[in-house]
Amino acid sequence: MKYKSTRGQVSGIGFTEALLMGLASDSGLLVPESIPDVRPHLQAWRKLGFVELAQKILPMFIDDIEPDVLHRLIQESYATFDHPDVVGWKQLDDMVVLELFHGPTLAFKDVALQLLGKLFEHVLGERGQKLNILGATSGDTGSAAIAGVRGQKNVDIFILYPHGRISPLQELQMTTVADDNVHCISVDGSFDDCQSLMKTIFADADFKAKYDLGAVNSVNWARVMAQIVYYAYASLRTDQAANFAVPTGNFGNVFAAYLAHQMGFPIANLLLATNENDILARFFQSGEYSRGEVHQTLSPAMDIQVASNFERFLYYYFDQDSTRLCEFMSEFNTTGKASIGGPPTDDLFTAVAVGREETLAAMAEAKDNYDYILDPHTAVGYAAIKVQVGGLSAPRICIATAHPAKFPDAVIEATGITPTHPSLEALSGLPVRKGHIDANIEAVKEYLAARV
Ligand SMILES: *Cc1c(COP(=O)(O)O)cnc(C)c1O
Repeated sequence: MKYKSTRGQVSGIGFTEALLMGLASDSGLLVPESIPDVRPHLQAWRKLGFVELAQKILPMFIDDIEPDVLHRLIQESYATFDHPDVVGWKQLDDMVVLELFHGPTLAFKDVALQLLGKLFEHVLGERGQKLNILGATSGDTGSAAIAGVRGQKNVDIFILYPHGRISPLQELQMTTVADDNVHCISVDGSFDDCQSLMKTIFADADFKAKYDLGAVNSVNWARVMAQIVYYAYASLRTDQAANFAVPTGNFGNVFAAYLAHQMGFPIANLLLATNENDILARFFQSGEYSRGEVHQTLSPAMDIQVASNFERFLYYYFDQDSTRLCEFMSEFNTTGKASIGGPPTDDLFTAVAVGREETLAAMAEAKDNYDYILDPHTAVGYAAIKVQVGGLSAPRICIATAHPAKFPDAVIEATGITPTHPSLEALSGLPVRKGHIDANIEAVKEYLAARV
């Protein structure tokens, strides 16, 4: 499989190159040159477990790693999950909660980042190359990225996070990792400051090349690819075509569902669920993509206004017409809004924005009716199903993106219960390592230069 950019200036690049490139060099996002058709295999694949299915799907997108090596890397990536079939399947009446949080950091990002870590280790080892990963996090991405590469000899990872503005548990998940290739940097500033520092550094081509900088944010194609597997897996476990409710921030998770559908997996509807940061819900209702204010909500991993993966969806919506896509993106970047002229004609998606009270009510309802504790992100998807019940027919699958113990404050507020998990309890009292810098570009550069 070869990859090309949504912006049309990059094409014909192999998987491993796409993995290391992250954002395409023309500032577009990488997508496969063609989408594999799995329909001839569906019958045979129905009986497969999660890892077995990953062993069928991922090689369709990766043809420049030897098959037996790839097989081993996939096996090792999912051996770190504490569920026998990697993902959990929880039936609550006529709804299934698909639990994606059984990885080392208890959020769905582990599904992709455990694999990414193994892929980096192998590819860098083969090429005799070093990579310095630089990332910014508002919580979950940093710890999952660190868990993917800790202890590797060809990778150092530097994670910027806003001082005092991520939860104490999320901070401990990063700063208690003892491996010396891990560097956590608390920045005097907001998450936006961290992100703009990271973008400024990546835009400095000389610095980036000199220090072998790489990225693991959700624009990396390999992350989307890894996420296709759980949609495929779930769609093959239901009798009829599956409907998914997906709590959405950057559109990465739900874009993987879209691709699974395009590949021919039996998926009927995707219910995109946002919190009060509703730019995507508004787009699917009106066709207008317009930036709003960022609101702080109970589901901080979805407090995003501009969804970086949305460009991939638009590219396919525009029939892979890069010129049209570039016009749309440039209008959006200059004016803060752009429109496709009316609601998308594609009836695969429906979209709902869920507010604070509905989120808390969903958590209370799941606890009262099923004795089941939802995290506040999953609760947004659950609430969307309840609102949309006439529109989303069975089988309904709610994507569960985090373990409730990662977000105890919201859970306590909604249910009165303090959620726990042994791996989080084990963090208290461990030694902590972190750096602390001002939110300016020279400080970040000095920090990196002193340690690379
Ligand atoms: C990252 C994250 C999301 C949002 O995922 P996107 O791919 O950005 O849509 C939702 N829930 C949790 C817990 C997350 O960590």
